[in-house]
Amino acid sequence: MKQVADIIIIGGGVIGLSIAYHLSQRKAGKIILLEKGQLGEGSTSRCVGGIRTQFSTEINIRFSLESIKTFDHFEEEFGVNPEFRKIGYFFLATTEQEVETFKGNVILQKRFGIPVKWLDADEIRKRCTYLRMDDILGGTFCAWDGYAGPSEVLSGFAGAAKRTGVRIHEAAEVKEIGVEHGKVTGVRTSREEFSSPVVVNSGGPYASLIGEMAGLRIPVKPLRRQVFVTAPFHLTDQTIPLTIDFHRGWYFRREVDGFLLSGPLDKEPSFNTNTDYEAMVEASENAIYRVPAMEKARIARGWAGLYEISPDNHAILGKVPGIQGFILANGFSGHGFQHSPAVGKVISELILDGKATSIDISSLSIERFEKGELLLEPMTAFKE
Ligand SMILES: Cc1cc2nc3c(=O)[nH]c(=O)nc-3n(C[C@H](O)[C@H](O)[C@H](O)COP(=O)(O)OP(=O)(O)OC[C@H]3O[C@@H](n4cnc5c(N)ncnc54)[C@H](O)[C@@H]3O)c2cc1C
Repeated sequence: MKQVADIIIIGGGVIGLSIAYHLSQRKAGKIILLEKGQLGEGSTSRCVGGIRTQFSTEINIRFSLESIKTFDHFEEEFGVNPEFRKIGYFFLATTEQEVETFKGNVILQKRFGIPVKWLDADEIRKRCTYLRMDDILGGTFCAWDGYAGPSEVLSGFAGAAKRTGVRIHEAAEVKEIGVEHGKVTGVRTSREEFSSPVVVNSGGPYASLIGEMAGLRIPVKPLRRQVFVTAPFHLTDQTIPLTIDFHRGWYFRREVDGFLLSGPLDKEPSFNTNTDYEAMVEASENAIYRVPAMEKARIARGWAGLYEISPDNHAILGKVPGIQGFILANGFSGHGFQHSPAVGKVISELILDGKATSIDISSLSIERFEKGELLLEPMTAFKE
């Protein structure tokens, strides 16, 4: 027998659960979330938890500022400590063009009241004695940035959503989306059928496969990113910010007693989540180049996950022209974790009020690709 819902959410990652939570807070009726495996098993469990305000488009900065409000009060709201560590993000520039971009970003970020600072090479040399400085021209630092625990945040959203009545079905892979006369009618899994006038696609790297079920082309590609963690290793007693060698697309930060090192991002799309030796060598070479003392560190483990990349590295959010009731929350391009609180909020507003009011999301509509209105975000050349 068909189950009846007011809203179906496809995907139980941090995005789907944030949307479910925000809708349930507003008493949006019968909300059912369908996850093909276990909650969080997609990109969310592979994520390294970075949270930053240092973006170079207004829309990304707005999502960061709105989300940080939630991360700052997460424990009061959800009863779970998100382990938000504000160690700061430090972007290093090694070319004149990067210097120009970073300085432009500082002007924009300061307009939003973000306490970001430009540091010249001498200041960096004094502060960060462990860095190779030959090619560093300067950098930007913001103390509001840092990282939190993806599994803590996921369980905070999931627990609160369940407590407020969201029904969560795991091992429930959506196989078909019903669309009749330009409106969604529901979904079918291998075991059950659901009718619903609203279906949300929060399938992370699988977004385009879910779009196809509704006859929609969503330009989101899955790209593998590998990361590695060293065995316990002492570098300095100072707090080390999350430090990004922007030109090399490499970053590192502390991870318990060792360091987390970013590995390469694949160029070709795939659903491969294996780690490989070449990636480990690349991560290690970048580490030794920028932090010579790392030569003595030992890689202890690594993992890989999928970014959900859109053509302009910005999210694809909102309604779909021609398919009433189909809502997209996709294409976060490597920063969906940090923006998940605000995404849940704006998508719930869109569904319940007809319009997102906390943040104007019209520039993130899927229509921008057809209209040629792509957004430009140089800071996502680097991806967490
Ligand atoms: C190595 C790595 C590091 C990262 N670091 C950061 C970071 O520092 N900061 C940051 O903000 N972001 C980071 N990200 C990106 C972040 O992980 C993602 O943007 C975020 O997790 C996206 O959440 P999601 O809920 O959209 O996707 P997911 O967590 O992938 O959830 C989607 C869910 O949908 C389910 N699903 C798919 N198809 C179906 C179907 N047909 N039926 C039912 N369920 C389905 C999947 O099983 C999955 O659980 C990183 C990602 C990776 C891989």
